Amino acid sequence: MIRSINPATGEVIETFEPLAENEIESRLNLAAETFIDYRRTSLAERAMKLLRAAEILEAERERFGRLMTTEMGKLFKAAVEEAQKCAWACRFYAENGERFLADEEVKTNATRSFIRYRPLGPILAIMPWNFPFWQVFRFAAPALMAGNVALLKHASCVPQCALAIEDLFRRAGFPEGVFQTLLIESSQVERVLRDRRVVAATLTGSDAAGASVASIAGREIKKTVLELGGSDPFIVMPSADLDEAVSVAVRARTINNGQSCIAAKRFIVHERIYDEFERRFVAAMERLKVGDPLDPATDVGPLATRDQLETVAAQVERAISAGARLLTGGHRLAGPGFFYAPTVLADIPEDAPARREEVFGPVAMLFRARDADEAIRLANETDFGLGSSAWTRDEREQERFIEELEAGLVFINGMVASDPRLPFGGVKRSGYGRELGAFGIREFVNIKTVWIR
Ligand code: NDP
Repeated sequence: MIRSINPATGEVIETFEPLAENEIESRLNLAAETFIDYRRTSLAERAMKLLRAAEILEAERERFGRLMTTEMGKLFKAAVEEAQKCAWACRFYAENGERFLADEEVKTNATRSFIRYRPLGPILAIMPWNFPFWQVFRFAAPALMAGNVALLKHASCVPQCALAIEDLFRRAGFPEGVFQTLLIESSQVERVLRDRRVVAATLTGSDAAGASVASIAGREIKKTVLELGGSDPFIVMPSADLDEAVSVAVRARTINNGQSCIAAKRFIVHERIYDEFERRFVAAMERLKVGDPLDPATDVGPLATRDQLETVAAQVERAISAGARLLTGGHRLAGPGFFYAPTVLADIPEDAPARREEVFGPVAMLFRARDADEAIRLANETDFGLGSSAWTRDEREQERFIEELEAGLVFINGMVASDPRLPFGGVKRSGYGRELGAFGIREFVNIKTVWIR
C-alpha cells in the first residue's frame, strides 16, 4: 500500500494501490511507443514545452508547495521556493539544451567527422521524498529536452507529488507517455528495470538502494546515474568570518528539517576557534523554533516519516552510548507528528557508527582539528563524497581544500547548494555520474560518432 501521511500530524491523507502487472505493462508499452515519435521532435519544440512547464510551476507554486509540505513536512516557504527552482531548471535546459546537444565537429582523415547526441529511450527515475519536486525535475528537464521519455518511481510516501508532476508535464503539452508516474513499491522496481523497453536508470536515495539498483542494471548492461547520500564536512579555519560561518552552519545543517544529501553534517573546526564556535553554534541551534511547517515562524518541521524519526533517534542514542557528548537536543518532541529536537554531538569516538553513516535529521556532529591536515583527514574519513564546504580567507588553505577534499562539490566560504548551471554529483559511496549543467544532459544520450568519407 502506498500511503500519503502528513508528518506534522501523523494523519493518513490518502492511500493508493500499487499498479498491477497489466497496468505496468501498458505504461511500459506506451513509453516505448511514444519514444519512437518523441525522439523525432525538434529541440525547439521540446524547449517550448519545458517553458510551458516552467510557467505552470510558477503560477501554481503555492499549490505545489502545500502538497509537498503536507506530504513530507518541509517548510511551506521552502516548498514554494522548490517549485520555483524547478521552473528555473526547465528554463535553463529550454534555453541551453540546443547548445549542449549541438553536433561537435572533430578533424580526422574523413571528409567530415562529428559527434551527434541522440536520445536513448525510456529512462526509469527512482526518486526520494526529501525534495519531491526538485529531485524529479533536475532529472526530467534535461532528459526530456534530450528526447528521452521518463518513467518515475517516486518514494512511497509522496504519491500525490508524483501524480501532480505527471499531470503538470501533460498540461505543459508533452505527449501522453513522455512522462509517466508508476505508483509501484520498491520490490516492483526490479521487474521494470529488467524490462527490455527500459534502457537506463537514475536513482537518488540511500547507498543501499543505489547498490541494489546498480547491480540489477549491471546484469542487464544498462547505464545508471546514482546520486546517493552524503555526510558533508563543513570546515572552519581561524581566518573565517565566524559570525557568518556559525549562521550558515546552522542553516546548512537544518535545511529541509535536516534531510538533505548536501546538508553539512560534520563540523570540523580549528582548535583555536573551536570553543567559541561550539558555544555560538549550540546557542543558535537552541534558538530554532520547531513546529508546524505551514507556520511561517517555524525554522524546523517534522521528519518525513515515522521510520526516519526512529532511524535518527537510534543513531543519536548509539552515538551517545559509544561515548559522544550531547550538547543539546537528543530527543523526540511530544505530540503526534514526527518531530526531533535540533541536536549537537561532540567528541564522537572513532568507532561510533554515526561518524560514518549519513544522519538524515537536524543532528550536527562537531570535531576539533589541530590544523588543515587534520581537518582534511577528518573530512575524508567517511565513505561518502558528495558536497563539502570550507571557511577560510587564506588562499593557500582554500587551494588545499579544493585539491584534497574527496567530494564532488567544494564550496569555499559558502553553503553547498545545487544550481542548474553547475554539475552536481559525488564520488565514493555518494555515487557516480552528474546531474545538471552540460554534463547532466549528456548522461542519458548516445554519443554517436559519425564518419563520412
Ligand atoms: P531509499 O534510498 O530507501 O529510497 C529512495 C528511493 O529508492 C525511493 O523511491 C524508494 O522507494 C526506492 N528504493 C528503496 N530501496 C530500493 C530497492 N532495493 N530497489 C529499488 N528501489 C528502492 O531512502 P529512504 O527513504 O528509505 O531513506 C533512508 C536513508 O537514505 C535516509 O536516512 C538517508 O540517509 C538516505 N537518503 C538520501 C537521500 C539523498 O538525497 N541522497 C534521499 C533520501 C534518503 P520506496 O519509497 O518505495 O521504498
